[in-house]
Amino acid sequence: MIITEEAKLRLMCEEVKTVKEGEEIGAQLLKELTESENGIGLAANQIGINKRVCVVNVKEPLVLINPIIVEKSEEQFMFAEGCLSFPGKHIRTGRHASVTVEADNHEGKLSFSAESEDINDAFETACVQHEIDHLDGITMFERAMVAQPYKAPEKIGRNEKVMITDGKETKELKWKKAEPLVESGDWEMATV
Ligand SMILES: [Zn+2]
Repeated sequence: MIITEEAKLRLMCEEVKTVKEGEEIGAQLLKELTESENGIGLAANQIGINKRVCVVNVKEPLVLINPIIVEKSEEQFMFAEGCLSFPGKHIRTGRHASVTVEADNHEGKLSFSAESEDINDAFETACVQHEIDHLDGITMFERAMVAQPYKAPEKIGRNEKVMITDGKETKELKWKKAEPLVESGDWEMATV
């Protein structure tokens, strides 16, 4: 059963004591994921187990036990995400373009990067961040891409050259000369 109560998903998960315990939870998660219609990742707290185990299944099934992101790029990419705990909802998120993860059941480091030709790399990179967020009680809504506030165009300088047109003729003039013509209504700023 996949948990859809937001309050429960907000709880922090605890580390598992042994890899064996983590593997058992991982197997349960993969089973649940296979039974889901379109899931590509699942975290233990989504099935009511508040332990730091998650799975990602984009290219191959990957179980992550006590995972932590040890490195992340400044650069972000935009991704359209859904979540098994919020059926039918999709939002645009900003995710790190690359992350490095350490987990108790993997020797060394795991690298994920969205900067390749293969769209599956982007899926996997976003998914691993989505699932590790779950273990920290964070949902995709906190990663929503926020639109930049609208910035009014800067005022035109008096000596700045502009293109104006009256529909037949186009000329390039300094703004101080063009301004009265534009204000007369016969000329307008040319758009390119
Ligand atoms: Zn999710």
